[in-house]
Amino acid sequence: MTEQLLLKALVFAAERHKDQTRKGKSNIPYINHPIEVAHVLSSFGETEYDLLIAAFLHDVIEDTVKNDIEKENLKNDIRKQFGSNVLEIVLEVSDNKSLSYKERKKLQVINTPNLSDSAKKIKIADKICNILDIKNRPPEKWSNQRKLEYLKWAKSVVNGAVGLNKKLDQYFFDTYNKVHTYLKNNKP
Ligand code: ZN
Repeated sequence: MTEQLLLKALVFAAERHKDQTRKGKSNIPYINHPIEVAHVLSSFGETEYDLLIAAFLHDVIEDTVKNDIEKENLKNDIRKQFGSNVLEIVLEVSDNKSLSYKERKKLQVINTPNLSDSAKKIKIADKICNILDIKNRPPEKWSNQRKLEYLKWAKSVVNGAVGLNKKLDQYFFDTYNKVHTYLKNNKP
């Protein structure tokens, strides 16, 4: 039953992220984020199970392992429980944490045009949710300028991912414009 697998992925992700919160000031549990990403995708007609499962799991490799052994174990777990296609998608959207922040951000812009369709869609939904978070529950220490820089960077990543789902693309640009205007008008 694929619905069961979808819920299993949700439980799996919740367990992996259980001690984490989002960067914002409201102490939102981390798991809210992958749930929102999967919800955005399904809201725009993306209902393929592997895609939604990968959306639930999209940050577990990047954000919940401390070393290479843990990473390998987690990869094996994901492959065993959800299949190699799901694992591939999750790996595609995972930054290499051994690189610097700057390098990782640069690589996302360069690599996104070469990702699979599923990975591109997750990238877009992920950036939509992150931009909404910047407006609604902003990371405490981020200046207005840093938020605007994040938006600009997110748009350059998404520009390499558009063309698969017009409504999803449009929702990104609408969200971008709305939050961009908000930040421009609400300088601290
Ligand atoms: Zn994410």
